[in-house]
Amino acid sequence: MHIIPQLDLSGQTEDWQSEFNHLITSGQQLLEAVGLGCDTALLEQAAQAEKLFPVRAPWPLVRKIKPGDANDPILKQLLASGPELLDVAGYVADPLEETAATQTPGLIHKYHGRVLLTFASQCVTNCRYCFRRHFDYESNRLNQQKLRQISEYLASDTSIKEIILSGGDPLSVGNGQFQRFFDALEKIEHIDKVRIHTRVPAVIPARIDKEFVNILAKSKHKIVVVVHVNHAQELDEHFDFAMQQLRQQGVTLLNQSVLLKGVNDSADALINLSERLFTAGVLPYYLHLLDQVSGAAHFYVSQKLATNLHKQMQSKLPGYLVPRLVREIAQEKSKTWIL
Ligand code: SF4
Repeated sequence: MHIIPQLDLSGQTEDWQSEFNHLITSGQQLLEAVGLGCDTALLEQAAQAEKLFPVRAPWPLVRKIKPGDANDPILKQLLASGPELLDVAGYVADPLEETAATQTPGLIHKYHGRVLLTFASQCVTNCRYCFRRHFDYESNRLNQQKLRQISEYLASDTSIKEIILSGGDPLSVGNGQFQRFFDALEKIEHIDKVRIHTRVPAVIPARIDKEFVNILAKSKHKIVVVVHVNHAQELDEHFDFAMQQLRQQGVTLLNQSVLLKGVNDSADALINLSERLFTAGVLPYYLHLLDQVSGAAHFYVSQKLATNLHKQMQSKLPGYLVPRLVREIAQEKSKTWIL
């Protein structure tokens, strides 16, 4: 049986803040940190590609990379690389047409009953495959005026039951902003669920500190945290502990992954991930085909291979550990299930 160590959370607030403030911010730093600083080809590619989308990588995640392995699944997600510079037909800046679905700056309303807030305007980890790598965070950055407009929008549509906090990564913001958000939400009675989509628990687990857990515990809303993890190597006992803290407060824990060439495009990798998530008390929810954003074409896994991998998962795992294989199609009113 896997035993979750009883880590001491006292004082972690300071830890996570310093981890947020001391990110790796260049390909060169990242390559040097993982023992690949002499690879001139990788250095040159990174220097060009990071001009389009900066490198941001927190140390707790970088320490999980196998030193000297240019094909490490975590490194592939963090390091700017030459293929990002290619202009590939069908890959565009806004593949999900989110600009058209933005009702008021910071609020995207595409699906019935739920809206998405771009709660944070940056991430602690810039994932190279991110479909929002060209997103206009500046125009959507929340301020008092935008929050007032968003509150009016939410209050005026009683069909909205759920708020989805997305990003940037919502856990990039401090606890004070979360508390103010939940306080404001209390006044809108028809909203009963808050869903937080975040990659932070896997990359800086200490961010799930006591204060944050207490904010969620006090909320009258049903809380769902959807972590974004793509490979079992991203997880450790600190992640397990963070999930344990949330679970004890009745938070529903799910995971969504993106199927990424060179990262998790094998049945073994996907099966290991599902098993490892379950150890931490997290259920696999979605396995996404890549959204076709420009700069990420080299991560694409075909639908045929995805279907094949998914069938292998079904043959080896209990149903509750098999995520739904989906893709998102712009203007559709829900995600599209592939099987
Ligand atoms: S954490 Fe999420 S929003 Fe941020 S870069 Fe990664 S995939 Fe994109």
